[in-house]
Amino acid sequence: MISSIMTKLTFNKPFTQQEPIPEAGIERAVEVMRCGRLHRYNVVEGETAEAALLESEFADYMGQQYCLACASGGYALHIALKAAGLQAGEAVLTNAFTLAPVPGAINNAGGVPVLVEIDQNYCVDLHHLEQMMQESGARFFMISHMRGHIADMDAVVTLCDKYNVTLIEDCAHTMGAFWKGQRSGTFGKIACFSTQTYKHLNSGEGGFLTTDDADIMARAVMHSGSYMLFERHDAAPDPSIFADIKLDTPNYSGRMDNLRAAILRAQLPLLDENCRRWNDRYQALEQSLSRNSDIQLSHRPEAETYVGSSLQFRVEALAEQNIETFVQNCASRGVELKWFGGKQPHGFTSRYDSWRYLNNQQHLPKTLAILTTTFDLRIPLTFEIEDMKVIGEIISDEVSELVTI
Ligand SMILES: *Cc1c(COP(=O)(O)O)cnc(C)c1O
Repeated sequence: MISSIMTKLTFNKPFTQQEPIPEAGIERAVEVMRCGRLHRYNVVEGETAEAALLESEFADYMGQQYCLACASGGYALHIALKAAGLQAGEAVLTNAFTLAPVPGAINNAGGVPVLVEIDQNYCVDLHHLEQMMQESGARFFMISHMRGHIADMDAVVTLCDKYNVTLIEDCAHTMGAFWKGQRSGTFGKIACFSTQTYKHLNSGEGGFLTTDDADIMARAVMHSGSYMLFERHDAAPDPSIFADIKLDTPNYSGRMDNLRAAILRAQLPLLDENCRRWNDRYQALEQSLSRNSDIQLSHRPEAETYVGSSLQFRVEALAEQNIETFVQNCASRGVELKWFGGKQPHGFTSRYDSWRYLNNQQHLPKTLAILTTTFDLRIPLTFEIEDMKVIGEIISDEVSELVTI
């Protein structure tokens, strides 16, 4: 027994290590640097910029008419609200379990976030959503498909139609995912994506906005800082649509450059295959954790084709005073868990009540209760299937160690 510490299974790969950029992307990025035309509107006669090519390719991928590549996912959310017509001081509904850039984007656009409870599967609570639609009178709902969990989109769309609410989707974690065979990001008026390093495409920083609405797209292009060069966008509406919009829309400078676009163009053809690789890893871990009856996994509906780039689980039987120990014990064996219930925000795990600037006194007991027992781990593609079994075993061991019967 003395040697048990020595023989404990450990894991030693970093949870934040992504795969390298594909060689084709590196080569193209070097070419962009060699020619010096990094700015998306800096093109020679007959040339289409990498950023414009990327927009057309991502619009095709999404099956949407229009796409804007921009500086970040949070930026895309911000200008989506502005382009959709949000007025200063207006309420914007959003689910309470999301990351800080979402309420931040609402705030940045002059809106007031109104938070909606989540359910046991980390999706927006539909009853509370309807209640908040009635109470707030909000004209916008920014749904965040947080950690890739997709709510019943038929029900969400029905509620939005019933209350005349414009749906904007935050697809930071659902790029490549579907609901009933329809791409996540095609249910609302606008969808926003992030290409920040920890998402499904990696350009360090970056984002996309997609829509089928010509006026919204024209406003988004102008907001992003196109000056009068909007004709250099291919996945954008006809220049005639810009006639008034070009004069009525402020420039909130947040373009994507050709260097990032070059890196992303090489990754896009690999996205679907990578989604399958994420799911292989996710399912191996899920299977391993499901053997421990003290671990509650979320239910993934048949209608949802998710991308398992992270996994959430709860341990309801774990006493609150043991949570820190559990996280530390896992960490000491190389498994990096995030606890979403911490009162003090750590890393990226901020809980809604730590966004003090919201100043809205909303109390969401259901969301708090769920987050208090929720743990989260990233699944980088640098992990192998075998690694997932090791990780699952370590978590399961440590749960059994601390759960009191
Ligand atoms: C990352 C993320 C964003 C914002 O993306 P950035 O590119 O970092 O601005 C928005 N929503 C969620 C849920 C995210 O995880």
